[in-house]
Amino acid sequence: MRDSERAVRQQIIDLCLEMNRNGINQGTSGNISARHSDAMLLTPSATPYEALTPEMIVSVPLEGDGSDWSGPLKPSTEWRFHRDILRARPDAGAVVHAHPIFATTLAMTRRAIPACHYMVAVFGGTDVKCSGYARYGTEELSREALAALDGRTGCLLANHGAITIGSDLDKAMWRMVELETLAQQYHHSLLLPGGPVILSDAEIAEVLEGFGSYGLQSRDAIAG
Ligand code: 13P
Ligand code: ZN
Repeated sequence: MRDSERAVRQQIIDLCLEMNRNGINQGTSGNISARHSDAMLLTPSATPYEALTPEMIVSVPLEGDGSDWSGPLKPSTEWRFHRDILRARPDAGAVVHAHPIFATTLAMTRRAIPACHYMVAVFGGTDVKCSGYARYGTEELSREALAALDGRTGCLLANHGAITIGSDLDKAMWRMVELETLAQQYHHSLLLPGGPVILSDAEIAEVLEGFGSYGLQSRDAIAG
């Protein structure tokens, strides 16, 4: 294995550990993938993140039917939506799926997140949609996820959790943290009389203009 591939595998493990440490995810729920040439590198199914080594990350060709994966452990049960998102979205270099408490709470009520805060624009538009329900691991769930992600970089999955994408792993995880924060803020605002005031499409369009040059700085840029 090349050093560059090993580094991506290690970064996937580091982010899995980080998302459980900071409360974005729990236990072995969730899964993370990164595009790597014509394949994706993906977490194995139901494996404690503390036990993961770079060799245990599964490689799945993007053009195959999912059966031609390689690694010592089975790929995540959600390999299909990871593969389909990476195929359909050239802007996605990585996909993070998690079951964060507040995002999942909203998804259990099948509620989209409206423009209750300007940071909704981080996901590409005036809302974060909630997909229709389908059983975990199915082709139907993959279709629902792709539809809810249309024109967006994050979505809620009905009665399940959330997905975010990014040009790289850091950006996809950054968005998951922002999505859970937004979900928590929206949830709290719903508890107050009158609920949140929703920003207009024009107000969000203005934010989106500013976001042309806003977002998580890459590790290379920070390192200078
Ligand atoms: P895996 O352990 O198979 O990745 O499944 C976790 C999950 O979140 C399913 O939706
Ligand atoms: Zn899940």
